[in-house]
Amino acid sequence: MSGMWPRRSTPTVDVGGVKVGGAHPVVVQSMTNTDTADAEATARQVVALAMAGSELVRVTVNNDDAAAAVPDIVLRLRDEGVDVPIIGDFHYNGHLLLRRHPECARALAKYRINPGNVGTKHRDANFQQIIEVALEHDRPVRIGVNWGSLDQRLLTELMDENARRPEPEDASRVLLETMVESGVRSAALAEETGLAHDRIIISAKVSSVPDLIRVYRMLAARCDFALHVGLTEAGMGVKGIVATTAALGPVLMEGIGDTIRVSLTPRPGGDRTEEVRVAQQILQSLGIRSFEPQVTACPGCGRTTSTFFQEMAEDILAHIRRRMPEWKARYQGVEDMDVAVMGCVVNGPGESKHANIGISLPGTSEEPKAPVYVDGEHYTTLKGEGLVADFKELLDAYVERTYGPGPTKPAEPSPTEA
Ligand code: SF4
Repeated sequence: MSGMWPRRSTPTVDVGGVKVGGAHPVVVQSMTNTDTADAEATARQVVALAMAGSELVRVTVNNDDAAAAVPDIVLRLRDEGVDVPIIGDFHYNGHLLLRRHPECARALAKYRINPGNVGTKHRDANFQQIIEVALEHDRPVRIGVNWGSLDQRLLTELMDENARRPEPEDASRVLLETMVESGVRSAALAEETGLAHDRIIISAKVSSVPDLIRVYRMLAARCDFALHVGLTEAGMGVKGIVATTAALGPVLMEGIGDTIRVSLTPRPGGDRTEEVRVAQQILQSLGIRSFEPQVTACPGCGRTTSTFFQEMAEDILAHIRRRMPEWKARYQGVEDMDVAVMGCVVNGPGESKHANIGISLPGTSEEPKAPVYVDGEHYTTLKGEGLVADFKELLDAYVERTYGPGPTKPAEPSPTEA
């Protein structure tokens, strides 16, 4: 699948071999929630995130113990054959930690700096110290502005300026303008310090969906830097997923965003990799990137009173996920495949014809047979107890026939490719 939304033009930023921006696919990233000082637990979680598809992983580097653990974490990953670049998240003391721990600075592929959290009195000097370390180690930085930790001096300056206007803007608009200004001014200071234009990524994260869309439009209009997009503190469960999707959808559809992170709050002991799957699903639902075949299933209604088709849809999805490691290696483009599992004759044949391969199950009181459609044409009709197994066989045969051997579709460049 190639992206259908024209992308905003940006320089390409190389983050440990993963290309962010330019014409490169939108990169999925995530963040650990382990204590970084616990190298073993952090490395284990990074492996899980990378296996789920995270192309960059960020870890917090909040104290000396965490900074000292970073080289060990990276070593453990490389020993396991996991080459995902690790990004360090710094607040308040990044300038000190990066100087005190040069091995940490070297092991990290990128430094995230929050310009609202680099100090007050020595704000610019501290910020510049981090940029100098980035220059020494030839690392890119993300200037990550967050409305929860906005540079208060800059906010006051822009609020005062606004108050002097003949027709002042409302305060929420000025706050978003301050976020943009903070990102753009910090990037200018980084460039004055010597960092190249293509070594800078900016983000401006808020937790309100409308404000997220507004601030990224404003930021995109002000600069051509590659942008990291994410709704901060999105929340838990359905709320977090829906809010993130509602925020990122319009932004990505406008071609804004070169890497995304989904900031979900997992349940205690919950699966951190959910944020990676949600990020992938957002990109795939928007037609921007493909990660795995999609199963289209109807919601069911009174026309189908058994749970058979729901179970079948689940079974087919599990089958696809089981087969994907092998399919991905052997069949180029298989991640673009659409499979339909539908509950009755009302929308079943129509939806199945739109899929690459689809089955229309019989609803209540319909004749017990299930037509299968392949590439828009009626292919065969299944019935009886072996129906699910028969459909899986047809699916496997379709994959073999359509996506192998050899490439049948132009491949989407991976973020590590030029
Ligand atoms: S396809 Fe049939 S069973 Fe499924 S939601 Fe539509 S009418 Fe109901």
